[in-house]
Amino acid sequence: MTGPLDQKLSGALGGRTAQALEKAFGMRTVGDLLSHYPRRYAKRGELTGLAELPVDENVTIVAQVLRSTDRPMRQRRGSLLEVVIGDGTGQLTLTFFNQAWRKNELRVGARGIFAGKVGEYRGTRQLAHPDYRLFDEEEQGADVAVEWANTLIPIYPATSSVSSWQVQESVKVVLDGLGELDDPVPPEVREERKLVPYGRALELIHRPQRDADYGMARKALKFQEAFVLQAALLRQREEVRSLEATPRVAGSIAQGFDAALPFELTGDQRTVGEEIARDLAGSQPMNRLVQGEVGSGKTLVALRAMLAVADTGGQSALLAPTEVLAAQHLRSIVRTLGPDLAARLHPVLLTGQLGAAERRKAMLAIVSGQSRIVVGTHALMGENVSFFDLGLVVVDEQHRFGVEQREALRAKGAKPPHVLVLTATPIPRTVAMTVFGDLDVSTISELPGGRAGISSFVVPLADKPGWANRVWERMSEELAQGRQAFVVCPAIDAAEVEDDPDAPEPESSAGPPPASVTATLAEARANPVLAGRRIEALHGRMPGEEKDRIMRAFAAREIDVLIATTVIEVGVDVPNASTMVVLDADRFGVSQLHQLRGRVGRGSVPGLCLFVTRAPAETLARERVEAVASTLDGFELAQIDLELRQEGDVLGSTQSGGRSSLRLLRVAKDGDLIAEARHAAASVLADDPTLAAHTALRDALARRLDEESEAFLAKS
Ligand code: ADP
Ligand code: MG
Repeated sequence: MTGPLDQKLSGALGGRTAQALEKAFGMRTVGDLLSHYPRRYAKRGELTGLAELPVDENVTIVAQVLRSTDRPMRQRRGSLLEVVIGDGTGQLTLTFFNQAWRKNELRVGARGIFAGKVGEYRGTRQLAHPDYRLFDEEEQGADVAVEWANTLIPIYPATSSVSSWQVQESVKVVLDGLGELDDPVPPEVREERKLVPYGRALELIHRPQRDADYGMARKALKFQEAFVLQAALLRQREEVRSLEATPRVAGSIAQGFDAALPFELTGDQRTVGEEIARDLAGSQPMNRLVQGEVGSGKTLVALRAMLAVADTGGQSALLAPTEVLAAQHLRSIVRTLGPDLAARLHPVLLTGQLGAAERRKAMLAIVSGQSRIVVGTHALMGENVSFFDLGLVVVDEQHRFGVEQREALRAKGAKPPHVLVLTATPIPRTVAMTVFGDLDVSTISELPGGRAGISSFVVPLADKPGWANRVWERMSEELAQGRQAFVVCPAIDAAEVEDDPDAPEPESSAGPPPASVTATLAEARANPVLAGRRIEALHGRMPGEEKDRIMRAFAAREIDVLIATTVIEVGVDVPNASTMVVLDADRFGVSQLHQLRGRVGRGSVPGLCLFVTRAPAETLARERVEAVASTLDGFELAQIDLELRQEGDVLGSTQSGGRSSLRLLRVAKDGDLIAEARHAAASVLADDPTLAAHTALRDALARRLDEESEAFLAKS
């Protein structure tokens, strides 16, 4: 697979330029350069505004030389050439040291394009040693000037070492020498949507003649992005489907369990259960994502699937993101199964923190097949862990697990096991299609009845500093009714903010340090309002055993108030906990706040959630917190979150790393386009599964895979 796009830049442009481009943008091939699209286009008028040029920014401007002076330096040896340029709206001084010869080039009246970083010297804006390119003689003619005024000048993302016009120059060289390009989007798909072919789109996006040109180009290139991505995901899905799995059909174990359930399944649980049962009964591996709010009963649905597997003599592995959660899952599974089934299925825990003897015992139960349900952390993926007959892998809380881990587990079975991924983070449809496009998706949107609900409030300390103690008072009223409370802090102590990949960038680094577990613990214990209450701390730096002990004590109501970091975020289930206080709530992401809130109101006790923030009204930070307080609808919040986030965060590291990242496609806005592209890709693949007649698409997919594995290798 070597087409014109795979040609090395060193060959196309020469070593020095190629090196500069690689260093600045990581580009290596012609394709890399041509997919570095202009950020915007300027017309001559737009490029001006010289008077208002922002200091310290890299700019590209079109102007004319007004005058130039060349004089010796006063303080030291050498000469200084000062060239004043103007565009009719303002002036700017260019300075060159010891380059007097440029005076011959930068003659008065010469027009050109200038690029550099704006500096300021004695109140005058200037560019020191700017890059520039002067227009040719004929480009300066009077008639050309009018046309020139309307010429679109592409403005590329630039760095201090490679300016926008240097990119433009390189693109020109490459485009001029570019041969015929095959389009990964087949002609019939393109024609149906009136999309210009690939080569033409590249021409138009880099060298548009009029505004409509780049609009047309973007439309085609954006569709192509979505199309290639969806084709890649669909193929991945087909690949899994072409594997052979052992069918698993529910028998007496699963049926007995259902009959003994103390409650009715919700409608969604039943529907999703049927979808899973159908997958499990098939001879291809299931590859399904179940999404549903915290408490919607996903774990129960997964457990029923495990029982169907147990009915056929197989084993299931449940993979949890933390030790605390793994231990909790095991306890709740044992409880839900009841003594008879638990004895029969022998659920075991396997985590990195088991002692040697315990570990050996667990491994034996796993390899012998005695244990039909294994719960653990990533330790389960260890090479020395082998299963007797692994039939199902359940991954809890997908957002902490990557595709690679899922694949590693798939390799654990003699035949590939079925895979079920659970997530409590609701995912907007288009993101699901993009990030989890290789999975089938089931949704549980109904919560089991009998829940008392949650009320959320923002406590805005910026406006109401006096409310700080009201938070403790309100909490103590809840405790007085025999309930328990969580207090979540962004930091462990003054020195350490717990690593949280989802947390928003602080809007400014100034201001008071974030609330910490250590300080809050001391404060709470000293607060007369909480006198006599049992208050403990929980955070990620504590040893696993200690964390486990504290969680158990909290679940057993031996602790009233748990002051913690987000280690309690996922899955912790204590139905008697009624109050969730989040300190400096603006330091958490939208979905995380929503998850934290889901820790309370889980039983028959109504939940109370207090988001304490010092962020002033009308700031983005405050808006985020208010958004979460305003709705309990996880899908609505996911959409808000998506709109507040950067694209890279949405797609996670796999998609945003490497050169295969999305460029024009915006998952938040291009939902319809993505759906349409998926549909088109599916129908192409249905007619031509091996893409024998679609070589350009096949090449594009191969290129994607190369880039992905390259990015993956670079990370590991
Ligand atoms: P999730 O994993 O989605 O957070 P779980 O499966 O852990 O939810 O269920 C949360 C709680 O609700 C558990 O105590 C579970 O036993 C209970 N539960 C699950 N399904 C139902 C139901 N249909 N009716 C009543 N309670 C249910
Ligand atoms: Mg759960």
